[in-house]
Amino acid sequence: MRISVKAPAKINLTLDVLSKRPDGYHEVEMVMTTVDLADRVDLTLLDSGEIALDCSASFVPDDMRNHAYKAATLLKERYQVRQGVRIYIDKQIPVAAGLAGGSSDAAATLRGLNKLWNLGLSLDELAELGAEIGSDVPFCVYGGTALARGRGEKITHLTSPAACWVILAKPPIGVSTADVYGNLRVQQIANHPPTEQMLRAIRNQDFALMCDSLGNVLEEVTLSLYPQVRQIKELMAASGADGVLMSGSGPTVFALVQKEGKVHRIYNALRGFVKDVYVARMLGGSETDVLA
Ligand code: ATP
Repeated sequence: MRISVKAPAKINLTLDVLSKRPDGYHEVEMVMTTVDLADRVDLTLLDSGEIALDCSASFVPDDMRNHAYKAATLLKERYQVRQGVRIYIDKQIPVAAGLAGGSSDAAATLRGLNKLWNLGLSLDELAELGAEIGSDVPFCVYGGTALARGRGEKITHLTSPAACWVILAKPPIGVSTADVYGNLRVQQIANHPPTEQMLRAIRNQDFALMCDSLGNVLEEVTLSLYPQVRQIKELMAASGADGVLMSGSGPTVFALVQKEGKVHRIYNALRGFVKDVYVARMLGGSETDVLA
């Protein structure tokens, strides 16, 4: 028996850091939404009880370092499942890019194995387990649009934002989330994003206000480390993007546009500059179901 599960990328519409906690994590406030750039996770039942993993991108780890492998191991041990699984990840989301690809693979594995192993767990239960793997996994379990607080695991579901196109560009560098947070001076953050205003923009499906409310406090850190990221932002803005922001800890930058005609202009401008450019739609609502 085999099932395939979609693992969509997320983008941050806002990312704020409120404080550094005694446990070493940062207290964050982020508005996140899924886009239709997605990995596909195939899960094949193994009677042997073994967990095995392969990924189409050979540089992604295929052992316990892989978030999807961790998810399967956690579920198997916690619920004493006898059966095993062969996991295959068809990687479409760029790696170490600020798009939560690994977290989304873990979340897809949790949702898929819940069906394949007949566990009957709720999404809330899967999200709680996911928090043990990584801070972004609970959001990825639900997908859609949400406000994430705490270290990212406390989720408040939001309605879909105004429909729009998302053009993503990733310069040829991998950014370590830990490094970016390590270089952030929380007391010195000058511009916190207007989170309340973003929530209003989403509630009212106000595209212009959504573009005005974009903000990410990690941007300054990553921009100072990697000047190419700033160049991509400037190129997107100059090519007619309505809103531009770096996602997560970067280095992926995205542009939001509503008019389809602008998509091609921005895409073509970027392709002259970076190889990894993607055009996606905001998913808005949750479309994280098992495919087949
Ligand atoms: P986030 O936005 O949550 O910080 P990211 O998009 O920046 O995530 P990932 O693509 O999840 O980063 O990859 C970060 C690291 O995790 C990579 O260096 C990779 O080796 C490791 N990793 C573990 N599992 C996976 C996976 N399933 N897919 C991609 N990378 C994975």
